Amino acid sequence: MGSLLLICFFFFKAPSYLFWLGLAYIVPSFALGAQSFMSDHMLTLCAPCLGAMYLFGAWSSAYAMALRKNANAHSKFAFILIFSAILLLSYYSSVDDQLWVRMLILNLTIAIVESLVLFSIFENYKQTDLLNKIVDYSYLLIVLYAFVRGLIIFIFLKNIEIHLLVSSVWWLMMLAASILSSLWFAMVLLGTLVRETVAKLSDERSRDPLTHLLNRRGFYDAAKINFSLTPRRKYFLVMCDVDHFKKINDTYGHLVGDQVLQEIAHIIHKNLRENDLVGRFGGEEFIILLQIDHIDLAYDVVERIRLSIENEQFTSQKISLTASFGLTQLQQPNLSQSIDNADKLLYAAKLAGRNCIVFTQQKTLLKNP
Ligand code: GH3
Ligand code: MG
Ligand code: MG
Repeated sequence: MGSLLLICFFFFKAPSYLFWLGLAYIVPSFALGAQSFMSDHMLTLCAPCLGAMYLFGAWSSAYAMALRKNANAHSKFAFILIFSAILLLSYYSSVDDQLWVRMLILNLTIAIVESLVLFSIFENYKQTDLLNKIVDYSYLLIVLYAFVRGLIIFIFLKNIEIHLLVSSVWWLMMLAASILSSLWFAMVLLGTLVRETVAKLSDERSRDPLTHLLNRRGFYDAAKINFSLTPRRKYFLVMCDVDHFKKINDTYGHLVGDQVLQEIAHIIHKNLRENDLVGRFGGEEFIILLQIDHIDLAYDVVERIRLSIENEQFTSQKISLTASFGLTQLQQPNLSQSIDNADKLLYAAKLAGRNCIVFTQQKTLLKNP
């Protein structure tokens, strides 16, 4: 499981908390593996070293949670605790050999180190997403369980001899519960990760990388969702094309042209309301869906955009430019037909001298005749 998390981190550009979570699985597993090959005498000798590996794992998982939740793992305090615990483990292995005290120290330190991050995660807790909530509360349960392990050791395993430990039901149950809870935690965490990745991919699929507006596919999909949610509303479709954009590329270069497109996208976006949609339809062409009751109101919105573009000085080169618009009422459910109509109106706006809005086949409103 730990290797899987490290592979996700190194090869699939997964978030950095997966690296620390991977270590939180791998380092203690090595300790557990090594421990099972050791003689009782070796186990006592190596107790501080094995303890350090378990404690590092505990800190690493707390640190991963802190990175994931933008919280504080209180690492300095955690390392002071870990250092003190290692000193105590050394004492109770080489000076006064007490297995159950070592187990108690180890489990309680693990519990405290893991719990340090809980304060900043759960103060003002606002998570509403179910899967993320499951991850957070699973972590909380794992930490509580670490305290419970301390209690079990104190009550049921007090003064236990090392050779009796492996046959103790309590010890075996504790081990099984630790492994199962770790697996459960990794599974739900990977679940959130897969879901985030799918959401990110689908967002990238529907967005234009230059302007971050919807691309053609994204616009069609979002428009269909809008129609199904509010089928009785009136919609207007606008096609917008920047005038003489080729000249800008030819004069200032493609990079400046790109920057101009980004700024135009921003102007259009900030002139719309939440229910409206805007997409980049092609090179320097934008498409807008207005959810509005009357053509006069739709016209006012488009006119505001037209004027904002006309009055803006784009990029550091202070470039002035204009755009032409075709505006039509949407004939649901035929989006393609309405796009075709708006395109024809846009073409009419170009023929009418550019920098204007044409909103019926017959009537043209020229702002700068
Ligand atoms: P009109 O007023 O008739 O629309 O003239 P125009 O020059 O804007 O139209 P034309 O279709 O001749 O040129 C569009 C230009 O847009 C050509 C192309 O190089 C440029 N273009 C398309 N996509 C991009 C892009 O992503 N970045 C940049 N910088 N330019 C682009
Ligand atoms: Mg153009
Ligand atoms: Mg064009």
